[in-house]
Amino acid sequence: MKLIKLPLEFQKARIILEKIRNAGFEAYFVGGSVRDTLLGLPLHDVDIATSAYPAEVKQIFKKTVDTGIEHGTVTVLDHGDGYEVTTFRTESTYQDYRRPDSVEFVRSLEDDLKRRDLTINALALSLDGEVIDLFGGLEDLKKGLIKAVGNPNERYHEDALRMMRTVRFASQLDFEIEATTLKAVAENAYLLEKIAVERINVEWTKLLLGKNPKKGITGFIETQLFAYCPMFKTMDQVFKKIPSLEQLHFNNEVTAWTLVCYLSLDNHKQVSKLLKAWKCSNELIANVQNCFSALALLKIGQIDAWNLYTIGLPSFEMANYVADMLGFPRDMTTIQDSYKALPIKNKKELAINGGNLIKDLQFTPGPLLGKTLNTIEKKVVSGELRNELSLLEIAARKIQND
Ligand code: ATP
Repeated sequence: MKLIKLPLEFQKARIILEKIRNAGFEAYFVGGSVRDTLLGLPLHDVDIATSAYPAEVKQIFKKTVDTGIEHGTVTVLDHGDGYEVTTFRTESTYQDYRRPDSVEFVRSLEDDLKRRDLTINALALSLDGEVIDLFGGLEDLKKGLIKAVGNPNERYHEDALRMMRTVRFASQLDFEIEATTLKAVAENAYLLEKIAVERINVEWTKLLLGKNPKKGITGFIETQLFAYCPMFKTMDQVFKKIPSLEQLHFNNEVTAWTLVCYLSLDNHKQVSKLLKAWKCSNELIANVQNCFSALALLKIGQIDAWNLYTIGLPSFEMANYVADMLGFPRDMTTIQDSYKALPIKNKKELAINGGNLIKDLQFTPGPLLGKTLNTIEKKVVSGELRNELSLLEIAARKIQND
């Protein structure tokens, strides 16, 4: 029996497990937080699994939110913190490849751990610090092995996303994939074709942001996973070029996607099309577009005040991060200094706006107004005009009369 000292994050959640236990049910910490604790990695969230059914959990705690009640998850609120408490469950296969066809709540921890994907993800931790290891997860953690729980062929047929997770965890933790599991991924790779984009995107993003994305991408190539996913097919240049890049590490989704786009696409239209196909958020698409523009400018080294103003320093700094990986020569200090020297840093700082033009200069809303403001903005940013209302009104009147 392995006993460990509960880390601080678990200590905070102690009270939740104690209350469930005092009500006569079982409760454990489960999943990624147990794995990461045993690996000495920082924890981001703490998942709790229990033999109590959702209605019973809601009876035990005063403040709860139904965050995923159909899957047995209730969020318990305690002193400003929220804890996801999920009833032990078994799952049937995923006919639509988005969510399991049915979820059955059960009272047995073993049944719950059995449905989990990998041995290292199927560990539970009790309040007393006892690690419950029914599938050899502890040994695999020690050996640095990624291994499916049960028969990998069957597990991948139930849910093909698990193949991506297998490769993703191997790269995220820098582990090796156990031989039978690896063979099953290669043999069943074609099943990935059916998985919903949203689920693939989550795993792909976690892979890119993990410890060793190059290893994950190489894993995708070797197992043929990428060949079977429609969204990956349009990115085949990435799969050709990334393995030859010497260093690869991403600090956020924007830099990750910018590099991917830069390696595989030529223009903004294609970037937008690809990211929409991946169902990325509009905010992410806008940020990647900006960073993509900044990267193209860093490559040619011709950045004027207007480029800096419209794209913004944060995008240039992210592009600089990507440029490091691509080995572009560039001078970031000059770019930062030029940005600091800009007379205005965004539209809100412009001393004149549409209201002034309509009220003071009798402009009518329409294309001329927009064009006038844009011309003035460019002149202010380039230093040609001082950012003072009276001066800008004179310039606007001149444009109006031309
Ligand atoms: P990370 O936060 O790094 O992704 P995690 O292990 O917490 O790691 P989640 O995707 O949040 O990952 O999943 C939580 C747990 O749920 C996993 O540890 C695993 O036990 C189980 N799990 C998640 N997805 C699947 C799946 N597709 N099939 C089987 N079990 C899964």
